[in-house]
Amino acid sequence: MKKKIIILTGAGISAESGLQTFRDADGLWEGYNVEDVATPEAWARNPVLVQNFYNERRKAVLEAKPNAAHLALAELEKHFGTLIITQNIDDLHEKAGSKVVMHLHGEIVYSRSSKNAALLYKLQKPTIEMGELCELGSQLRPHVVWFGEAVPMISKAMHEMPQADIVILVGSSLAVYPASGLLELAKPGTPVYIIDPKIPNVNLPKNIVKIEEKASVGVPVLVSELIKNE
Ligand code: NAD
Repeated sequence: MKKKIIILTGAGISAESGLQTFRDADGLWEGYNVEDVATPEAWARNPVLVQNFYNERRKAVLEAKPNAAHLALAELEKHFGTLIITQNIDDLHEKAGSKVVMHLHGEIVYSRSSKNAALLYKLQKPTIEMGELCELGSQLRPHVVWFGEAVPMISKAMHEMPQADIVILVGSSLAVYPASGLLELAKPGTPVYIIDPKIPNVNLPKNIVKIEEKASVGVPVLVSELIKNE
């Protein structure tokens, strides 16, 4: 039976594809306070600003190309039963060829109804305009989970974690709840690797192997070792 590898990814894996992380910008996201652009309150207060912010992020995502880390994880999927659980809203894992990807915080290339969160639409263009409505007549918004909103995929992710034979964490500060709690749900004794040029200063499993490298360097090396020892 193929071993199951769960890979938890955060904004850091996409940094070398040109998409900025939070932590490296002192908690700002492309110059904005998250409270002004990534909360339900911001949407209620100034939907035009929020829509424009995500339209710009979406344009950047559509232009971005997967880097060596995304590509190596797609290769890993050919050898193991892999599941990528990502906090990222970009589509770089899919562009790299990964098939089994769970997006905890949504996907920016989809719009969704602001009345019924289950009504999703794959966008055929980079922007959502104010006045574009879902089939129920409500304004379309980006399909992303804002700070302060529920994370519907988290229970599925929590259920998966204890089934992992190996866990790899790439490019997350582990500062955003509830994704930050997933690591501790791995079975005791499960081999865990972290790849980050600045290992986050949070509680990590005792046995964790720290690979203090950029994702594009550390991930391909670890992936080829895992494939070699398959
Ligand atoms: P974060 O910004 O809080 O932390 C990023 C981590 O990546 C840091 O630990 C940093 O040291 C590390 N890092 C920086 N460059 C790296 C590299 N080249 N290789 C490997 N690691 C690198 O990110 P987070 O923990 O994912 O939390 C941010 C939240 O913001 C998430 O909820 C996510 O939805 C959202 N976000 C998403 C994107 C995206 O989709 N690309 C970008 C920015 C923010």
